[in-house]
Amino acid sequence: LNFQPTKFVTSAADIRQLPDDTGVEIAFAGRSNAGKSSALNTLTRQRGLARTSKTPGRTQLINVFEVEAGRRLIDLPGYGYAKVPLPVKEKWQLALSEYLQQRESLRGLVILMDIRHPYRDVDQDLLHWATDCEIPVLVLLTKADKLKPGPRKSTLLKAREAAMVFGGDITVEMFSSLTKIGLEETEQKISEWLTQ
Ligand code: GDP
Repeated sequence: LNFQPTKFVTSAADIRQLPDDTGVEIAFAGRSNAGKSSALNTLTRQRGLARTSKTPGRTQLINVFEVEAGRRLIDLPGYGYAKVPLPVKEKWQLALSEYLQQRESLRGLVILMDIRHPYRDVDQDLLHWATDCEIPVLVLLTKADKLKPGPRKSTLLKAREAAMVFGGDITVEMFSSLTKIGLEETEQKISEWLTQ
């Protein structure tokens, strides 16, 4: 699949306002600042497709992109801001778990985690929900360039072991938007999901 022609389609304030549940889609989720926008831009070879470094705490939208007709990438809002009030967080988590449970076109979930702080609380919740719903997951350990090759490799191996605890179909790869580590593996997995 060629990701370069990917285009922005629409923004939705709520998961219930997403486009019709037809075709296939892959969702991207991660804590704020995990490098999700950068990863989307890297994947699609577009500098400004997903905005990077948004103001923390601001209400964010779900952005919908189309790689080609009927094949979408869904950019979910970053989570984990301390400043977001608890009821807002709870509402969002409920909407997210509903989306994972009910969305027919969802073929896979990419969870981005900073390689220096993997598996934080909400990351684990998401992994549980996704595997419970039998949605395949690709965990990307982002900003892999921040670690030297030795620690990078050992972190990857540890993260793969940790993924087994969740029991589902979980693939773990490293990723760097800066050096493009893991880009090929990521493209391969997402292409596979979007074309199956
Ligand atoms: P988002 O909030 O998850 O969309 O994260 P962004 O893509 O906006 O990235 C957050 C910060 O991390 C920005 O300052 C980026 O420049 C930086 N960043 C993102 N990806 C990488 C990467 O692969 N390597 C390094 N060193 N920094 C990155």
